Amino acid sequence: MYKAAAAVIWMCLLVGCQSTEKTQTNKQPHSQAAVNHAKQENTHTKEEKQKAEPRYYINPKTFAVEKLDDQKDKKPIALLTIDDAPDQHAAEIADKLHDLHASAIFFVNGQFLKKDENKKALQHIHELGFMIGNHTMTHQNLKDLSEQKQREEIIGVNKAVEKITGEKPAFFRAPFGSNTDYSDKLIKQEGMVKMNWTFGYDWDQKYQSKKALTDITLSSPYLRDGANILMHDRKWTAEAMPDIVKGLRTKGYTVIDPRAIKRP
Ligand SMILES: [Zn+2]
Repeated sequence: MYKAAAAVIWMCLLVGCQSTEKTQTNKQPHSQAAVNHAKQENTHTKEEKQKAEPRYYINPKTFAVEKLDDQKDKKPIALLTIDDAPDQHAAEIADKLHDLHASAIFFVNGQFLKKDENKKALQHIHELGFMIGNHTMTHQNLKDLSEQKQREEIIGVNKAVEKITGEKPAFFRAPFGSNTDYSDKLIKQEGMVKMNWTFGYDWDQKYQSKKALTDITLSSPYLRDGANILMHDRKWTAEAMPDIVKGLRTKGYTVIDPRAIKRP
């Protein structure tokens, strides 16, 4: 597990979590069975979700999602997360997830919010009911930055997101999973949940197609109860998302609503 996480971080450094792919919108038809199934999972209104008692927490060592109560529902759970948003595909990914009644966290880089169309995309994602996370302003390794600079990288996103959506990010994910003592302290002060991931493949060239990404995500040895799945605002990820959600459900997983994750 450690090796896999280290490889992810290393590869992320290489690819820099950047993509120049152009947006492609081709909505996938979804099966009624998958939608009906999802409706049972996710029948709360937005208001109810905000008031809901926490049912899960993020394990601070493994970053897996753990069940808080002795849930009668013993089904395995998975959390979907989309980093480096909102660049070119986040709104499309949100629409596809919404059609399937599946929740997710979109981790935002503040640098994307300079453009009006990206501000609109963030507003749209928020209005669909998705939670927003903080992924820093400019996607730098926090370990290379002064405390003052780290503060700007983190607080800048919270301010920008709150201005657009009216809601401060509840989760923090450092670029490359690289946190510092100072950033740990700051995100605690800001009331955010620190979050890395348990596995993800869309940054790896081998899996940058709809089929390859769907197949590896659903067959990965790291796909297990509590999976915290790392994905990105990318073309192939947008294309694969409906099949990944349907495949997770076919395997018996509940795609959880992050509003039910315990926060400080
Ligand atoms: Zn990233």
